[in-house]
Amino acid sequence: MILEGKVALVTGSTSGIGLAIARALAAEGAKLMINGFGDPAEIAKLTDELGAVHDGADMSDPAAIEKVMERCADELGPPDVLVNNAGIQHVSPVESFPPEKWDAIIAINLSAAFHTIRLALPAMKRRGWGRIVNTASAHSLVASPNKAAYVAAKHGIAGLTKTVALEAAREGVTVNCISPGYVWTPLVENQIPDTMKVRNMTREQVMNDVLLAAQPTKQFVTPEQVGALAVFLCRDEASAITGANISMDGGWTAQ
Ligand code: NAD
Repeated sequence: MILEGKVALVTGSTSGIGLAIARALAAEGAKLMINGFGDPAEIAKLTDELGAVHDGADMSDPAAIEKVMERCADELGPPDVLVNNAGIQHVSPVESFPPEKWDAIIAINLSAAFHTIRLALPAMKRRGWGRIVNTASAHSLVASPNKAAYVAAKHGIAGLTKTVALEAAREGVTVNCISPGYVWTPLVENQIPDTMKVRNMTREQVMNDVLLAAQPTKQFVTPEQVGALAVFLCRDEASAITGANISMDGGWTAQ
């Protein structure tokens, strides 16, 4: 088990991709702090399953982020592996995009990673080892209509990844992002009704003509595939991979 004795903090890990990453890291022996919202009974099941500590910090709130980072350091140790994964979506044309949705998406999908990274990096540098993995998206490389805030935030996280990778390059810390195409999770399920409305489509049309239209494989990426890549990035064999934006998108951005 490659992460025995290491501490991993995964934001937004009560659901979807973050949960799959948390499971994959736990299977490699990491001591885990998970984060995210959800039903307390469900979350208690997850902490049992993973042997993890849960903290429900709201990643849109820098003060809450400072607290969860302190709690992680106190209860488990400072994170050796930091996965910035929490994210939300909102689908709307830019003219009617609610400014509060813009602010929330930028805060959760982009600024939260700045805060966790600035707080986690000093201890990683001191120990001469660290792994930062950011869940970006195919939307860090290409755009789709009606997703102004999401695409802006994801392009931003790709830039943040490259910058911090350069700053940490001599210190044993790698910083990468994974850019999935469409992964079947609640985040994707929840945007189907809005996309149906905005594009005047049926559910089947949204699935086939909007979501899978972009993916040449015509298959959703699985959360477990993303989890496996996150684990690979933690391996010693991956120490030369830094500043990379690794696509896992069924060929979407090859087009
Ligand atoms: P999801 O909705 O299943 O999970 C999102 C997680 O983030 C949940 O645990 C939720 O509680 C948490 N979260 C939301 N707001 C939060 C907040 N303010 N503070 C703390 N936690 C919060 O979504 P998902 O599809 O698994 O998405 C996870 C990441 O993957 C996101 O960054 C998303 O942009 C990215 N992504 C998803 C897809 C996809 O197709 N599903 C594709 C590419 C990238």
